[in-house]
Amino acid sequence: MTKSEMRAYLDSHPPRCLNELSAVPVDMIGAVFDGHGEDLNPVFHISCKCGNETGKVRGYFWTNPDYNDMTVFISPLEFICP
Ligand SMILES: [Zn+2]
Repeated sequence: MTKSEMRAYLDSHPPRCLNELSAVPVDMIGAVFDGHGEDLNPVFHISCKCGNETGKVRGYFWTNPDYNDMTVFISPLEFICP
């Protein structure tokens, strides 16, 4: 599988944690990712399936002791539609 084929696959298969939401693949130009060893980092614009895009995302911060104590935001645990 070529890199562009892999990107197309990832873009068309959002993570299962987004199943209850609308997830549209987008490019995050200028964003810096840790990469976790990968150069393909799919990003999705999420919204409620009712069409509302102004909800709140619930998650939590986690500090990874195995990666220089880097703190990351783990989400979405929940998308709260107003
Ligand atoms: Zn909604």
